[in-house]
Amino acid sequence: MKKLGLYLHIPFCRSKCLYCDFCSFPRPARETVEAYTAALCREIAEWGRSCREYTVDTLYIGGGTPTLLPLPQMEAILDAVRTAFSLSPDAEITAECNPRTGGEDYFRPLRTLGFNRLSIGLQSAHANELKALGRAHTLADFQRTWEEAHRAGFSNLSADVMLGIPQQTPESYLETLHALLSLSPSHVSAYCLTVEDETPFGRMRDRLPLPDEDAVRSSYLAGAELLEKHGILQYEISNFASPGYESRHNLKYWSCEEYLGLGPAAYSDFGGRRFGNSRNLHAYLDGESILAESEAPSPDERLQEYVMLRLRLSEGISEKAFADRFGTSFSSRFGAALEPYLKAGLAKRTEEGYALTREGMLVSNTILSDLLEFA
Ligand code: SF4
Repeated sequence: MKKLGLYLHIPFCRSKCLYCDFCSFPRPARETVEAYTAALCREIAEWGRSCREYTVDTLYIGGGTPTLLPLPQMEAILDAVRTAFSLSPDAEITAECNPRTGGEDYFRPLRTLGFNRLSIGLQSAHANELKALGRAHTLADFQRTWEEAHRAGFSNLSADVMLGIPQQTPESYLETLHALLSLSPSHVSAYCLTVEDETPFGRMRDRLPLPDEDAVRSSYLAGAELLEKHGILQYEISNFASPGYESRHNLKYWSCEEYLGLGPAAYSDFGGRRFGNSRNLHAYLDGESILAESEAPSPDERLQEYVMLRLRLSEGISEKAFADRFGTSFSSRFGAALEPYLKAGLAKRTEEGYALTREGMLVSNTILSDLLEFA
């Protein structure tokens, strides 16, 4: 059986954060949540028919805030997945969660349903930074949610933190990590804030007190060092884990494996095609197709995508795996373009091939666009 990652999007949140460009709608009515669950279960059933030769070995319910869904809806979704797909008994099953949703009475049944991993949004431990982001919780809310999840039997817990928040300093970022480390996370995602045009942050871009590039760079480097000192090792530009706790689902994206994304704004790479749904929630609820984009990448586009995604990983690119996959040598195609970055200490040779250094990861966009343009 071939392996498949399945992503299900839940587009609802308690309120909308000021920087948020995800497909999420605040304060949904109960009827909307019920209608959405029914529509998602329909899409799951339809896709299950095309996936008979696959086993789902990672299931990721993201959003939005999936833990805003009442338990009967979560149960209906899991039942739909189990009915339509072959779900591996040792599948990694993750739900994203935000503080002030869930609770021990919610997490226990979730564990019984088969969820074995939660990813909880903290972003910052500081009240001023959370307020600047428009987050609807405090550090204490996050700690309570975390401890309740732990008591309910979740040992694989991940937290999201953010760099580049308005008013953030390298010191305040490290304090956030210290607050998190006191809870012994097995996984930490640390993404840089991106100011997107179609958000309140985008509209106040010039007035945002954002930290400058040097401050973000120091935060990133010092933060990675601190996490590694606590045994939480970097395995991707923005992701850190205790050994064995790397996100199996997200590793599929960076390793160019097949995945299916269902729900509005979800993307798929399946059966040789990349395709995505639009954000049109109303059409989705009405049972209309919301397929927005679909393409069959050429072999060279696949090769370029592989280089872009694999170089996000600390492990980098293995010469052998590359040659096996594409029938050509990585160094003969990219070696010359990579040379200046090797000399500058932004890329390095590994036992198996090449990887970016941590300094290189900070400027990965520049390196990757250079590599792909000139190679
Ligand atoms: S909790 Fe996440 S998905 Fe929801 S509004 Fe905030 S950033 Fe967006």
